[in-house]
Amino acid sequence: MSINLDLTTACNYRCDHCIDWEILNSKVRHADETLRRQMVEMAARGMRSVILIGGGEPTLYPGFASFVAHLKALGLQVAVVSNGSRNDRILEAAPHLGDGDWVRLSLDAASDAVFRAMHKPTPSTLGLDEICGYVRRIKEVNSTFQVGFSFVITWRGGTRDDVAVVENIGEIEAAARRASEAGFDYISFKPFLERADTGSEIMDPSKIEGAMSDVLRRIRQGIDAARAYEGPGFSVRESTNLRMLMENSWREYTRQPKTCHMQALRQVLSPHGTFNCPAYRGVAAARLGESDAYCDVDSVASTSNSTAALLDRFDASANCRDVTCLYHETNWWLEHRIEDGESLGAVTEDRGDTFL
Ligand code: SF4
Repeated sequence: MSINLDLTTACNYRCDHCIDWEILNSKVRHADETLRRQMVEMAARGMRSVILIGGGEPTLYPGFASFVAHLKALGLQVAVVSNGSRNDRILEAAPHLGDGDWVRLSLDAASDAVFRAMHKPTPSTLGLDEICGYVRRIKEVNSTFQVGFSFVITWRGGTRDDVAVVENIGEIEAAARRASEAGFDYISFKPFLERADTGSEIMDPSKIEGAMSDVLRRIRQGIDAARAYEGPGFSVRESTNLRMLMENSWREYTRQPKTCHMQALRQVLSPHGTFNCPAYRGVAAARLGESDAYCDVDSVASTSNSTAALLDRFDASANCRDVTCLYHETNWWLEHRIEDGESLGAVTEDRGDTFL
């Protein structure tokens, strides 16, 4: 129904907190024509939306704007998650986007100093002022889609392998001010995730340095202060897993049913292959096929079989026991519908948002 499409593994940043560090800047790449054909095949089979995201910076894909136009011509909802370094390409793609589409820039800081310390961009790339300066230009071209400022909250004690991440809690309020002044539609806050030994993306508050209650109190104060900038055209959003962290209910979201139903509805297509879930990009046990897994009738049949096999084989209650899964409620909802034998047709509603 929806895919996370990693257009490229290339990235011009070296973020300490990058969850996809191990699969970046590899030699593998999509064959453009095959990739476009796959989109046609998948759209014809019911795919509704594509998120151009992770495992690399999507705007570095050659012909990025033309690819967005291709997706829109197929009637798909399209979203882009970008580091902002090639906002000229977002500007180029903007005329093709429309109502219900969105672009989110992963910026994570209010000051250029913290932005550079966290992201380690190559020296020639844009600074935070220049990146944010593009937002009004994008809106002038097309204001029908939302542009968001994404802020991953990092804390002392968090690491990627042996690398300590830079803390940014002190910049939460100022980032909201920057985002509202720059013309973003919203700022969204989410917690830092790490890659566990199993390959899954997990939130690990136990590694927070110092008293967790103190860190959570500072985060809460920052977000409450950020809300002062809310008004017509600008909102402050907290991700589900951040709310769970703040409410100390996050362990509940690590309890998954044995079968993860979302594997059949939303997969990841990357130059490294096709995977069952965004939390398992590049992980062998989560692999469904190659990067051309949906390119023709035969490969679709083969990928359907491997999806069915993984639905049976992949035990989410064990494999995802450390993951604060964003699809926890949906998976349990589907599980209960299956147990009850209740007709899905009787309970579905269309919210006009096909991103899963
Ligand atoms: S249970 Fe959640 S984290 Fe695990 S594979 Fe399914 S969607 Fe991904």
